[in-house]
Amino acid sequence: GKVLVTGANGYIAIWVVQALLNQGFSVRGTVRSESKAGHLREVFKSFGDKLEIVVVQDITKDGAFDEAVKGVDAIEHTASPFHLHAVEPDELIIPAVQGTTSVLKSALKHGSSVRRVVVLSSCAAVLNPSTEPRVFNETNWNEGSLQEVSEKGKDASPLAKYRTSKTLAEKAAWEFYEKNKSAVEWNLVVLNPPFVFGPILHAVDVPENLNSSMNDWYTTIIQGKMDKESLAKLGSSWVDVRDLAEAHVLAITKPEAAGQRLIISAGPYKWQDWVSAARRISKYIPQGNDSYNPAEAVHMIAYETTKADSVLGVKYRGIDQSTADILVDLKAKVFSH
Ligand code: NDP
Repeated sequence: GKVLVTGANGYIAIWVVQALLNQGFSVRGTVRSESKAGHLREVFKSFGDKLEIVVVQDITKDGAFDEAVKGVDAIEHTASPFHLHAVEPDELIIPAVQGTTSVLKSALKHGSSVRRVVVLSSCAAVLNPSTEPRVFNETNWNEGSLQEVSEKGKDASPLAKYRTSKTLAEKAAWEFYEKNKSAVEWNLVVLNPPFVFGPILHAVDVPENLNSSMNDWYTTIIQGKMDKESLAKLGSSWVDVRDLAEAHVLAITKPEAAGQRLIISAGPYKWQDWVSAARRISKYIPQGNDSYNPAEAVHMIAYETTKADSVLGVKYRGIDQSTADILVDLKAKVFSH
């Protein structure tokens, strides 16, 4: 089969492309400009014509994916901005929402061979900012960030703007699917990962150009920029990028994934857990908070994963494994520049 991957040059997407190719799928990846295609072609050159890269310049335009969806069996939609420097909330909301609906509209009109559409959402669309420890599941929707953005507009926090873009995009996907499901041969699967960490396969010239989540990891663990108290206090939940890529393959191959919203999480962490793991491997890692006791950590944001466990059966790497692989990878790729 052939799978369309939007935003194929992104941190997560390039691992999705690799997982698909490794499992024998052909891939058509979209990028925004020809300059972003070269690295993908280079990384996967051993796969020959199993990988095709096409340019979709503006994903927000109706009909943007009309050509790209033709002849594919499945779609993995990942392209969406993830950064925390938008001024107007619409800088994130418009590409997130319209990018999603334009893929779905093209799949409706021109995707006669499409049987499955996977939308990469986020736990940003699940969680509600809270000062109490909470465990979320797939029935939860982020309402708090939407409220903050509707009340404060451009003065809302950067995270609220990003989370709103992901929440509205996922809602738009489900609405579109509910409205059109009798007219299409495909069904929708939505994946909701928390923070994604792991080795880097996409093009990164300097550490400053790492994607958002790996930039956080790099500045916190390698550069030691977070204060001791915060290292022990702050955290969230996470998943390894390679496990999330595997989930994207399972989401198109498992019949029982049809129509499901699935949280893909390895578990909660405090930043010091990563520091401690990294220091067990390298003495050059800044020390962080030595008095932190993981057994006493209170996790504010955790997720139930029983649904994805039974539907997809993803196996999750742990913090030690991911840390070891990230350190080797950063040393080879990022520090050498
Ligand atoms: P990257 O920034 O590496 O990738 C983002 C991808 O989306 C790139 O291909 C990028 O293209 C594309 N993109 C961004 N803005 C636009 C736009 N306005 N129009 C068209 N394409 C655009 O980040 P990730 O790989 O981390 O993010 C991929 C997806 O994963 C996003 O949907 C994000 O919300 C989601 N996600 C990420 C998490 C994480 O921790 N990393 C956690 C949960 C969800 P270009 O290179 O041209 O800018």
